[in-house]
Amino acid sequence: MFKAKGLKPSDIKSAEDLLKLPIVTKDDIRNNFHEFLSRGFRRYGPISNSTSGSTGEPFRYCIDRKSVGIARAALWRGWGYAGYRFGDKVAVFAGLSLGSRLQQSLGRAAKKVFDRVMYFPAVNLRREILKANAEKMLQFNPKFIRGYPSSLYFFANFLEKEKIHCIHPKAVITTAEMLFPYQRNLLEKVFRCGVFDGYGAYDGGTGAFECEKHSGYHMAVEKAVMEFCDDDGNQVSEGEKGRIVATDLFNYAMPFIRYDTGDVGIYSSEECSCGRKLPLMKQVLGRTTDMLRFSNGAVLSGPSLTLIFKDFDFKQFQLVQDRDDLLLVRVIKGETYVDDDTRRLQKILEDVIGEGVEIRFEFVDFISPTKSGKWKFIISHV
Ligand SMILES: [Zn+2]
Repeated sequence: MFKAKGLKPSDIKSAEDLLKLPIVTKDDIRNNFHEFLSRGFRRYGPISNSTSGSTGEPFRYCIDRKSVGIARAALWRGWGYAGYRFGDKVAVFAGLSLGSRLQQSLGRAAKKVFDRVMYFPAVNLRREILKANAEKMLQFNPKFIRGYPSSLYFFANFLEKEKIHCIHPKAVITTAEMLFPYQRNLLEKVFRCGVFDGYGAYDGGTGAFECEKHSGYHMAVEKAVMEFCDDDGNQVSEGEKGRIVATDLFNYAMPFIRYDTGDVGIYSSEECSCGRKLPLMKQVLGRTTDMLRFSNGAVLSGPSLTLIFKDFDFKQFQLVQDRDDLLLVRVIKGETYVDDDTRRLQKILEDVIGEGVEIRFEFVDFISPTKSGKWKFIISHV
């Protein structure tokens, strides 16, 4: 891409110079994985990771150990806006994903911090499990509750119905999905505390976090340059919707330069009244995922499902629900996919969803996008 534009690395001296370069998409990286690795990338202690994002296409990439560390620091600072201090007890309703992999490489001091974290499944949301979770949480008495908005909303709804009013963390921290006002309202009401939303695209190295003023998300711009662009790669104006394009300043193992994260946001040049000088992103859009509801009472949320699918070699997948006792899994197989994977996945889905729901597979060559051009990975008519 540099050659095609007649550019040398020395032509890039400032964030503005990045505009000389084209946008890099997930497909560019997926189709040229090895060319995106830097020469001698091993010296950066790369950690490989994968994500399904909101479109349901698995995406593998490498990330510098240093970049992971700084992302962690930015995350902890972001949670600090909600009052979190290193070592506070946190209940998490989400997958382990990056955290678990990182955990293996941590020293004893950091492990102590992770011991103060209790994980709750974001996937299985059946009534009896919700009840057990509520009891577990009461005993654990976390200072913070963190997780996907849809999972937390479902849990809060359950607590309200069961009249369990005694879980009162200092704050609720949400991430990974779009947080809707109705979800925020219920979480504030049930947990009697503030809700702090965060945005992060680990692959792009970006992070942005709400402060106590709740007037937007402070972007961790020391970690990554964040641009808001139209489809042609030009930056949009303040207040306009734009694709979030990220340049990670620390991932030397697999440089992501002007990388289209697949998310949409709106930036603002206003200064936050909290006094923090990090610039604001007013809103994050395009992280909306649907939920699947089944006749046996199980409810599954989008991001939690992508965690299951990311370990299989699918080019793309889509979950379609026309009836509450049937789930159709539409799949475009990857090259290394074998029949046994279908059986394995079927078993995992059965465990997660529970009895009385039929799971049907459909192998296809093409999955058509929605009108907006995005692939929806959950389509529910229930
Ligand atoms: Zn602020």
